[in-house]
Amino acid sequence: MINQDNLDKVLSELSKWITEYFNNIENYPVKSQCEVREIYNKLPGNPPRESESFDAIFDDFNKIIMPGITHWQSPKFFAYFPANSSYPSLAAEIITAALGAQCMKWETSPAAAELEEMVMNWLRDMIGLPEDFTGVIQDTASTSTLASIINAREFFSQYNINKNGFAGNEKFRVYCSTEAHSSIEKAIKIAGIGRENLVKIPVNADFSMNTSLLEKAITDDTANGYRPLCVVAALGTTGSTAVDSLEEIAALKRKYKFWLHVDAAFMGSLLLLPEKRGYLKGVELADTFVFNPHKWMFTNFDCSAYFVKDKNSLLNTFEIIPEYLKTRSDSKVNNYCDWGIPLGRRFRALKLWFVIRSFGVKGLQEKIRYQLKLAEMIYDRIDKSEEFEILAPLTANLVCFRFKPKNRSEEELNSINENLMQRINDSGKMYISHTKLNGKYTLRMVIAQAYVEEKHITEAWKLLNEFSKL
Ligand SMILES: *Cc1c(COP(=O)(O)O)cnc(C)c1O
Repeated sequence: MINQDNLDKVLSELSKWITEYFNNIENYPVKSQCEVREIYNKLPGNPPRESESFDAIFDDFNKIIMPGITHWQSPKFFAYFPANSSYPSLAAEIITAALGAQCMKWETSPAAAELEEMVMNWLRDMIGLPEDFTGVIQDTASTSTLASIINAREFFSQYNINKNGFAGNEKFRVYCSTEAHSSIEKAIKIAGIGRENLVKIPVNADFSMNTSLLEKAITDDTANGYRPLCVVAALGTTGSTAVDSLEEIAALKRKYKFWLHVDAAFMGSLLLLPEKRGYLKGVELADTFVFNPHKWMFTNFDCSAYFVKDKNSLLNTFEIIPEYLKTRSDSKVNNYCDWGIPLGRRFRALKLWFVIRSFGVKGLQEKIRYQLKLAEMIYDRIDKSEEFEILAPLTANLVCFRFKPKNRSEEELNSINENLMQRINDSGKMYISHTKLNGKYTLRMVIAQAYVEEKHITEAWKLLNEFSKL
């Protein structure tokens, strides 16, 4: 058992293990090579009756658990969007675990609440959001978007649905593009608005929302007695990091007065670069905005930065103060449990503080610019190659492409690319993922891993060529 007497020994072993892990991370297969049920079947069916030693547990962790881990911190991880980490973030997570504080209210750890307020102000300014936005950390973008949809629902029902439930005649409609993230549909279902009332607007050739069709959907719906509740603009879709025109959507908001939520879950970090803030034109009219430092700002999962224009409206939507949670400071401080869905909250501001201070704003900007450069490198190689084809414009650091041998039908190309991706991932040498764009099986390679360098890009290009010839 771990007790005071051997805590020191355990921690020094862990610190050795962590250092070794990072030193050797490139030697692990990136995607876990284990079979379905392989780990489960190695675990005993009953919990131990007696205490087991740390050595025995740790030994099993290395033997049984590690082979079933996919190495998200490997610089050869190019799949999905990354779940970034960095050494300062890791250090803060260790401290957070030691403190084990539950930071629901100001009083339950004043430093957590006050640090969160300050780092969220920093972050707002760092990405160029207007000063009238206020931030709060949520666990994920899915939760942030759900908070936004429920807030919109309450705002437009004068907070009546919270009080009396749906009357049955609300007829709300929510809009996003066909390329927008699935978390929006999930939020619509949970918020009681109904999946049929999510209108998916077709996209332009660059996969951004066609805003003329958005306006048409809004006017058609209004003529049919619906209330346009909310538009979710994607600042970087998950499939291809396409960017909806906030400027055009904001102009429609002026006319039709819907709630405007911006989903910048992955690409929010791009806005750390002043030269990329053209995408933000129109954001002054947004009501809510989400981006995930846990994706591309070198901060451990989970950490989702949620910004709102009207803090009181958010509080009117979520605040509940039962007797056992009343404190004397309630009127003077931020009690973040009232700013979202869960009551309990981890101390997440600490890792943001460590990350921002360790890198400095300049260090973060340099890292992001470097990764954009690496993405351009691989984009150019693919673009110039006879055998590969680019399938979406490069708006940041996600490259969408496919292998395209001559004289193959679209159907054959789809299965050739699916097969190529599976073989590459099964080799453990690197990890990429896919989407479908215009029905084409599209390989996605995201250059955003915290430790990725030029040599990993060169190697990745070599592997793509090698595996495509097998
Ligand atoms: C990843 C992603 C999400 C969901 O993020 P979670 O934090 O995992 O809920 C939502 N929207 C976009 C555009 C994303 O890329």
